[in-house]
This record gives sequence, C-alpha cells and structure tokens, in this order.
Amino acid sequence: MKTITEIDEKIRNGSAIVYTAAEFKRLVREGAGVSAADVDVVTTGTCGVMSGTAAILSVPVAEPGTFERAERAWANGVPCMPGPCPNERLGLLDLIVSGTAHAGAGYGGGHLFRDIVEGREIEVVVEAADRSVEARVTLDDFSYARLFTTRSAYKNYTAYVNTRPTRVKTIFSIEGLQGPCREVSVSGCGEINPLENDPARLAIRNGTPVLLNGSVGLVTGEGTRSTPARPNLTLIADMAGMQPRYMGGFKTSAGPECITSLGVAIPVLDDRQVAALRVLDECIPLPVADINTRAVLGEGTYADVWQQPDREVTYYPEWCGECSACVAAAVCPTGAFSRETGIDRDRCLACTACLAVCPNNALEAGEGSIRVRGRKVPITLRQSGRTLAEDLCRDLKEMILDRRFTFTGGAMR
Ligand code: SF4
Ligand code: SF4
Repeated sequence: MKTITEIDEKIRNGSAIVYTAAEFKRLVREGAGVSAADVDVVTTGTCGVMSGTAAILSVPVAEPGTFERAERAWANGVPCMPGPCPNERLGLLDLIVSGTAHAGAGYGGGHLFRDIVEGREIEVVVEAADRSVEARVTLDDFSYARLFTTRSAYKNYTAYVNTRPTRVKTIFSIEGLQGPCREVSVSGCGEINPLENDPARLAIRNGTPVLLNGSVGLVTGEGTRSTPARPNLTLIADMAGMQPRYMGGFKTSAGPECITSLGVAIPVLDDRQVAALRVLDECIPLPVADINTRAVLGEGTYADVWQQPDREVTYYPEWCGECSACVAAAVCPTGAFSRETGIDRDRCLACTACLAVCPNNALEAGEGSIRVRGRKVPITLRQSGRTLAEDLCRDLKEMILDRRFTFTGGAMR
C-alpha cells in the first residue's frame, strides 16, 4: 500500500514509474504479472463528441457607459447567454456559450471554442435596449475564459442503429442514420477511459487535477444523469493552455456538436487499483440500441471498435477518381479532409465517415462491425478518437515525468 504523498515524492525525485493506459494494457495482454509495486501512475484519457461542454467568457466589447445592459449576444454568430452578472454600463460582457449552440449547420459552439483557443479573431455582436454593438476580440482580450462540462468522460455509452427504412436525423450520424440496421454509430474510448479504469472512484474525486483539452483543470463533481452504474464527471479548466487538436466542432445531421478531451492520472496505491486498471476492451460491453425507441437490440464490446487493425484512416490519392464533387470532403464532420491535401491529422477524429461514402475506396481503415440480431452491422461512424485520447495520455505522462504534474502540490504548466 502506497500513499499519494509517497507517489508525489517519487514524481518530484524522478523515480516514479508511469505508464500510459495503452502501455499498461499492452503489459496486461502480454500476461505480465503487474502489481502495485511495479507502477506508480497510469495516465488515462478520452476524446470525442461531448455535448455537455460550455464556456464562460468575460469579454470587453465597448467603452464603459456605451450601453446599459446586454440583452442578446452572439460570438461568430453562435448565440450566447449574456450574464448571469449584468455588468451594468461597464461595456464588459459575461457570456455563457453552449458547445452545441448553432450559428448554422456547419458552425457551432465547439468550432467557436477551437477558434478562440487558436487565437483567431472572434466577432462579438451585442444587442442592448437602444443599440447594437460589435467588437472583434481574441483570447488575449478575455479577462476570463474557462471551459466547463456538465457531463463528460461518460463510462457507459450505447451504440445506435436505425431499425426503420428511412434515414433518421440524429446527433449520432452525419447524414442521418441509415436503416434498417444498415450501419452502427459508436462512441467511447473503451479500455483507456478514466472512469473505466477507476470504477470505485478510488482516485477520481472532486478536486482531482485533470487535463481538459490539454489544459490543467479540475474535477468539480458528478455530471448530470450520473449514477453509480453509469457515471460521468463535471470538469473545469482555463481555455488558455488548451491545445486545439483535442477540441473543436463536429458536424452531425442534427447540427454541430462539440469535441472535448480529458486526461486523468490514476495514482496506483494498491493492488485493488491494479485490478481495476487491468480492464480490457474485450470485457467492456457496448449495448446496441434502436435510435428510434432506444430499445437494446444486441451487445458488442469495445474490442469490436478498437481492437481492429489499421485504426487510423489512410488516404490513397492514387485511388481517387476525382469526382466532380468530393463526397468524402463534404461528409467530413471536422473539415479534416480534401482530396487535394488529404487528411489534416490535427483535425481528424478518425471517425471513418469519409471512407464510408467514397465511391472509389480511396480511404481505408479497420472500422469493424458489431453483431445485431445475429448479423454483422458495419461501424460507419466513431464519435470518439482513441488515438487522440492516447496522445493526451502521453502528454500527461510527459508532464509527470517532467515534474510538472503532482497530485498534492497541484498541477503546473
Ligand atoms: S469521393 Fe473519393 S474518389 Fe471522389 S473525389 Fe473524393 S476522395 Fe476522390
Ligand atoms: S476520418 Fe475522414 S471524415 Fe472522419 S474526421 Fe478524419 S478525415 Fe474527416
């Protein structure tokens, strides 16, 4: 049995043994008999579409006295909620922005958050009782910019099929989920998910330091609809310090959604913790439900999603038929693909939507399938990015090895 203080001391003196979740699972699959004496910290993570993400921004838009009180506001066209503080006559606006608020079919809160973090200029429009005010600001102008989540790191996702013959518009599909049972849409990072590796919540508690989109933040408590059997978390972190590649917008048939990433370091205190960390994709159930009724029709595991060869998507330009309109680029929910330049890895979630639509098979990946009512149904959309989550686990490991992250002394960038 170790203590957190002892692990922190090892981090500070450079002797801590740290694995990413992917490295640890490799040891488990190889049959290594790992005990708590062999490991001090395992870094876990998840990345994907997380609807419960929002921002609190404090934005200067005008000289004091220009207007009394903002009644409505937009940032890059995304509707925001002014307040709750009215900041009467200060020309300073507090805004709450939902990651799922829409400026249109192709731009929403998630896109806005990434643009802010990338340092792009943001157009803010304010309507007050007697006037309209416009301002152009960047992250440097914000006196406060934090992202918070109302529900994230969800442990128990459901995969979806459509049992009806007509397409269904849903946030779980980009062009509408095709039926009957022609495709399945999945979410979740499986065996590397933080809550999957700490089901008894021995390590993840209120105040636990985390990386939210690469920025050091905190667990603030349970998320909405969180239950002991189906837990999720609320988190908060400064937007300054976030890394754009771990966040952004994601186009769906029901409007833009928000990509969010989380990294959590699990201190390994005893063998009970090691036992929990041994969880593998093939042991984690993934129920498949009908999108229309939410009735469960079958069950796969995360091995069906992530234990496939060629998890990444590869583009073969020599296979491209140069269609008059590239449907692969049009369907890409993150704007990561064009036939001329290929895949922008800083934007690609490896969702596989492009390869499902390309008529010439110019894109390839091991996208897998799940059995539903005895028949294999192809996975045509992954709304979580396992490789990105593994990258975040690696970032967190490096921070620990560089002594920039401890459990009791806080986390430092
Ligand atoms: S859809 Fe496929 S084949 Fe057609 S232009 Fe795009 S990448 Fe090329
Ligand atoms: S896998 Fe294809 S469609 Fe999905 S984000 Fe990457 S480039 Fe876009």
